[in-house]
Amino acid sequence: MHHFHYIDGDLSCEQVPVARIAEAVGTPFYLYSRATLEHHFRVFDQAFASLPHVTAFAVKACSNLAVLALLGRLGAGADIVSGGELFRARKAGIPAGRIVFSGVGKTTAEIAQALKEGIYAFQVESHPELLLINRVAGELGTTARVALRVNPDVDPKTHPYIATGLKESKFGFPVAGVEKVFAEADALPHIRVAGVHQHIGSQITQITPFVEAAERAAELIGTLRARGIAIEYLNIGGGIGIPYDEQVPPTPAELAHAVLPILKGLDVTVLTEPGRGIAGNAGIFVTRVLRLKDTGDKTFVVVDGAMNDLMRPSLYNAFHAVRPVRQGDGPDIVADVVGPICESGDFLAKGRPMQRPDSGDLLALMSAGAYGFSMSSTYNSRPRVAEVLVDGDTFQVIRARETYEDLIRGEHIP
Ligand SMILES: *Cc1c(COP(=O)(O)O)cnc(C)c1O
Repeated sequence: MHHFHYIDGDLSCEQVPVARIAEAVGTPFYLYSRATLEHHFRVFDQAFASLPHVTAFAVKACSNLAVLALLGRLGAGADIVSGGELFRARKAGIPAGRIVFSGVGKTTAEIAQALKEGIYAFQVESHPELLLINRVAGELGTTARVALRVNPDVDPKTHPYIATGLKESKFGFPVAGVEKVFAEADALPHIRVAGVHQHIGSQITQITPFVEAAERAAELIGTLRARGIAIEYLNIGGGIGIPYDEQVPPTPAELAHAVLPILKGLDVTVLTEPGRGIAGNAGIFVTRVLRLKDTGDKTFVVVDGAMNDLMRPSLYNAFHAVRPVRQGDGPDIVADVVGPICESGDFLAKGRPMQRPDSGDLLALMSAGAYGFSMSSTYNSRPRVAEVLVDGDTFQVIRARETYEDLIRGEHIP
């Protein structure tokens, strides 16, 4: 469900024609719908309402302060993977008590920063990390709440780059024998074991992997409690897929319906960490056609947006639907939509049937709200694009387009 639709042939975000925003802010830009973000968050959060729970938005999916603040006001927590994300989440007003810190490479400084903020828990990915957190907490005269991230060896049946719960992945502790690590953690003087964490992958479109992972977690919690280790929370991770194309991922209600019976008797607070499921279909990437290039074999639609702005097609061969911002009646063609970057991998869409656009026309890459702007870079010295948020019949720039001065900020010729 999202609020991007045609009104009299004009693609609109809620009540605002996308073309009007392009006129005001220039292109390319990311455009988010407040109503869609709110709807997705509420649906997800309410699906788990029958148990004590925290819906911790995965900040890396869409890190803009305005988006984080909006979700925070609705009650969201945050799943962070860096000190920078902690800084953002706190700036956006998300309470530290609703923040969990994931990731295999937390630094000493980041651990200290998170301890000083008083986050809900660290989600620990390795034995050396556990010892480091214990040491830093000791130095600060405090105790760190931790969950161990367990790798349940479940195949999420998604793109290999975003599968994280298989035993060959770099994430978490293998489930076999993990109770020993829990016991060891529990015995450390500055560690308080609080939970079990899992996150098996992203863009998951089936329900079985979540169910299998939940069953393994439930079993593990039983084992841990039998050994006298108190477990307060279970984090079942994020990863719910969205329809980019023809996929029919489970709804949050279906997910909750499948896993809640497994979690109900456990007497735990349930954490979830959706990123894409909240933000993915709440944003689009808008770009302008510079020109068409026909090579005889192929037609290229050259646009002003590129792989540095929207990396998913180049990185994962990901699919984003391409829609004209103004519906016309031009002839149908099959084309690649490509950017100006000097790389063959610089494409936004390949072999797509579409109306033949003219130079100056606007195109929208749909479902670009997650891992869109947050993955963007300034490669080829292209300033990062603007981000805009629509609310009803109004819009606001929530991140200004970068300037050339921004590009060289901090650089210095010796
Ligand atoms: C990236 C990530 C998420 C979010 O994944 P989505 O597929 O966007 O829901 C959640 N938890 C962890 C630990 C992650 O690394």
